[in-house]
Amino acid sequence: MIDLHTHSTASDGHLSPAALVARAKSRGVQRLALTDHDTIAGIPEARRAAATHDIDLIPGAEISVTWQRRTLHVVGLGLDIDHPVLMDGLARHQDERETRAADIGERLARIGLHDGLARARAHADGGQITRSHYADLLVADGLARNRQDAFKRYLRPGRPGYRRTVWAELAEVIAWIHAASGTAVLAHPFGYGCSGAWRRRMVAAFAEAGGDALEICTGVSSLEQESQSARDAREHALAGSVGSDFHSPEQIWLDIGRVRPLPSSVIPTSYVTETPAL
Ligand code: AMP
Ligand code: MN
Ligand code: MN
Ligand code: MN
Repeated sequence: MIDLHTHSTASDGHLSPAALVARAKSRGVQRLALTDHDTIAGIPEARRAAATHDIDLIPGAEISVTWQRRTLHVVGLGLDIDHPVLMDGLARHQDERETRAADIGERLARIGLHDGLARARAHADGGQITRSHYADLLVADGLARNRQDAFKRYLRPGRPGYRRTVWAELAEVIAWIHAASGTAVLAHPFGYGCSGAWRRRMVAAFAEAGGDALEICTGVSSLEQESQSARDAREHALAGSVGSDFHSPEQIWLDIGRVRPLPSSVIPTSYVTETPAL
């Protein structure tokens, strides 16, 4: 099995990079990409664990992008994690995450979340602070029932804890990935809550900006969405990728490696093959 989109404690995942790799191994995953939000900090630990478990670890990152005032996610796969262009780009996003986290903390203080920034920082434990960390605090304080509810009430656009963030542009982020010898994949094309017309425009813009592949099969994609993405990929000469977007063992409906294989009409990225060379 192959899974090219997962998170660890370096961002909003619940497992350490080593524990993630161990779980992937126990589930029969042979090739795993670690793709934390705007960071490659978990890669060295994941690499060491992958060597002991005989897993093919693909160094990756899920990079935030602003396109047409919307946030998109571009997964970079096969990254040279020491490349200065990539490192500078990620550092810029990490700085932005810090100021944004402080602003979100101030906003949430108004609805009764105490000491938000300090607690979010402690919860992230050295990893990137994401809205998910604030969602967990809201749940812990009884202000929301679960992560989804916290997003719906407080963290989405239009809600009191939302803070607009301007990330790098599509072409810029794709250039960082390419500079680091990586493959740029548009993550979960059905995960942005936009209409079909917007989704098609987004895929066209991604291809136009030099993107390489579409994430066709995810942990939550339906067969119908996968066929639609396969058509989108063919139309724009994009390859296909697969990734669960695993965050936590508590999400029992979504586990590492639990993704359908690519539809046969799609050209796989070089990371999607039946038997990874170990
Ligand atoms: P951020 O990059 O800090 O804006 O956080 C984005 C992350 O929040 C995503 O990668 C998801 O893991 C999580 N997220 C976004 N929307 C929701 C939602 N409605 N329910 C649960 N988690 C969400
Ligand atoms: Mn996430
Ligand atoms: Mn994402
Ligand atoms: Mn993700």
